[in-house]
Amino acid sequence: MHSILAALSVLPVSLAIADGSFYGDPPDATHPWAIHDMNRPQPPVVVPGTPSSNEQPGQPPSDAVVLFGGSEADLQKWEADKNPPEPTKWVVKNGMLQCVPGSGYIRSKEQFSDCQLHVEWSEPEDIEGKSQGRGNSGVFLMGQVEVQVLDNHNNATYPDGAAGSVYGVNPPMANPIRKPGEWQSYDIVFRRPIFKDGKEIDPGYLTVFINGVLVQDHTPLEGGGGHRARSKPRPFPDMGPLKLQDHGNPVRYRNIWYRPLPKRAIDGGDTSRMSEEQTKAKRTEIAKTIRADAATKQGNEKMLRLLESLVYASNAEALSEGTAMADAFVATMKAVPSDKLESKKAEIMHVNSAFQYLTKFKLVPDSFKAAGELNAIVKANEWDKKK
Ligand code: MG
Repeated sequence: MHSILAALSVLPVSLAIADGSFYGDPPDATHPWAIHDMNRPQPPVVVPGTPSSNEQPGQPPSDAVVLFGGSEADLQKWEADKNPPEPTKWVVKNGMLQCVPGSGYIRSKEQFSDCQLHVEWSEPEDIEGKSQGRGNSGVFLMGQVEVQVLDNHNNATYPDGAAGSVYGVNPPMANPIRKPGEWQSYDIVFRRPIFKDGKEIDPGYLTVFINGVLVQDHTPLEGGGGHRARSKPRPFPDMGPLKLQDHGNPVRYRNIWYRPLPKRAIDGGDTSRMSEEQTKAKRTEIAKTIRADAATKQGNEKMLRLLESLVYASNAEALSEGTAMADAFVATMKAVPSDKLESKKAEIMHVNSAFQYLTKFKLVPDSFKAAGELNAIVKANEWDKKK
């Protein structure tokens, strides 16, 4: 915030309206917001977490949903991956959730889809087995697609089944696995596949960091992945649990949390690059909100807010009221004696900058005479010339 204020303080007067209104390029067919638009919602404030050390897990960010924070009670957030559901036989020991071989997968009772996921795991120090048989477990997003958990410290395996692989689909780009017994971390960004009318419109993606090292970079999904068989794209449900695999090894977990992610535009969300239909609806909604805000204001503020709504969607009433207010404003300024006009300079320049924007981007019709008349006052006083 301070840096923004500092930046504004050095801008020339003509840009002093740089509060987001009448400033950057206006919305277009696939972008409902203007460039640098202050009407756009502020990102929600999140208090960041703290990093983990080998000795202890860090704190999750403030908006995280904790699936396992280390307490015995957190075991209640999980169940055996069976139908009908039953309590899991996995155990909590010293703040860690440990797989009991032979007891089966576990799944979170919480169901979710697109997310940022954090999981930490530690492999048994007593090294047993090799390749896929050493420290095998797995993180299954939505219970559908496995990011492999494996002890790959001095243990080669087929690369598309290594730790950090999208199992059976894509190998990790690196092997940053620590020694067995030490804590490893996964930071995962997951987007589920989206199908419409049986057709894939977004394959879904996985981005994965192991111990801070990028190993999957927006890797497109190919369905769930699988053992020996080539996986094929398929739709996922809207939501699903997180599953952790029992592959016969007593792998331990800690500090499991996720943050749900906003929907992609293709999934009905309102990030940029929306469809023309979505954009139109969003622009109508923004214009309505601004008109409602205008109704709570007076004078120039009201006039500019009404006219600002036209940036997003045309509206006969807003145009008519805004035009009448603009005409009245210009008439008032014309009536100011020339020796008093300098005291009105800031106000005139502020309004003129808005009017020029509306004219430049053809957001008001030619009948909006106030713009030309006000600009004539500015020019007559040479306020448009750099000093
Ligand atoms: Mg596995």
